[in-house]
Amino acid sequence: MDINKLQRENIKNLRPYSTARDEYKGQASIFLDANENSYGSPLTKDTPEAVNYNRYPDPLQLDLKDAISKIKGVPIENTFLGNGSDEAIDLLFRAFCEPGRDNVVILPPTYGMYEVSAGINNVETRKVNLLPGFQLDLEGIAEAIDENTKLIFICSPNNPTGNSIIRTDIETVLANFNGLVVIDEAYINYAKQHTFIRELTEYPNLVILQTFSKAWGLAALRLGMAFAARPVIDVLNKVKPPYNINQATQDIALAALKNIEQVNEWIKITVAERENLSRELAALPTVKKVYPSDANFILIEVEEALKTYDSLVEAGIIIRDRSKVTLCEGCLRITIGTPEENKTLLETLKMLK
Ligand SMILES: *Cc1c(COP(=O)(O)O)cnc(C)c1O
Repeated sequence: MDINKLQRENIKNLRPYSTARDEYKGQASIFLDANENSYGSPLTKDTPEAVNYNRYPDPLQLDLKDAISKIKGVPIENTFLGNGSDEAIDLLFRAFCEPGRDNVVILPPTYGMYEVSAGINNVETRKVNLLPGFQLDLEGIAEAIDENTKLIFICSPNNPTGNSIIRTDIETVLANFNGLVVIDEAYINYAKQHTFIRELTEYPNLVILQTFSKAWGLAALRLGMAFAARPVIDVLNKVKPPYNINQATQDIALAALKNIEQVNEWIKITVAERENLSRELAALPTVKKVYPSDANFILIEVEEALKTYDSLVEAGIIIRDRSKVTLCEGCLRITIGTPEENKTLLETLKMLK
């Protein structure tokens, strides 16, 4: 696969912005190259730690990538960091899809951002619905693809259904598609199935998305990861805004990565709570179906989705109404909370007639 050929003509010819810090290499103590404020940041005195944000951050976030690399086992040059996974998704469209000509394949019911991002970039989305059990329709995918199909988005574990996609089916797509296969692993930390990271060396067209927004508890920071072969990462780095990950985010993420034990503890509790809650929900007379979940949420089918949703809102509990989503008729999506939150949810549901 030639990534050079896959990217848009204008991106192939693009000369990326060169930052002041890109052009300087070596040691120095006086920085008069980037028109920054040499005095510092005015917030210094009021913040608990003496922090300054007066200098532009590292455009390639090498310290942070190094720490991520130690946990994920992916080399720095195969890692891209975005302002949320959503930025990586948008950049994939902008780098690889010619507006008004190219198309991408998505597999509903799935994460909404793929289609929104396609729409923003004026790229056609071709939809191949998942089969019963929310698994891939391999024949349908093969039929939907043509020479202008650049990306296929596979979300596993899938949002909003919660299930993992059968591994060998994903491998079939990877081996047969002449564009990028984007596997969105936002919920991989909660899954029994393991990540596709180890397959990166095997497939030049594989892009894996992960995020700090879920298991890592840093949704407000906006930090997402994309792992891929070097040529894909090079293209993403070429098109990204120069300082897309701010210094505060880099600092806080670095600190959080030192506390992986806490994250692993939360994952264990969440998975146990998921199994508990699934069992308890299935026993409720109003619940028609509890879909098996490999994520930190559960999709359930109920008698009257909107009524249940509204009653919970009235009780101060917000879940996600997915009843109008393709193949999710009558369905609600419930995030696994703390044990107390889950208990309150169950008690509230039990009181509804
Ligand atoms: C939550 C979620 C993300 C995370 O997006 P961020 O921009 O990193 O917060 C990505 N993909 C899916 C499927 C999600 O559900």
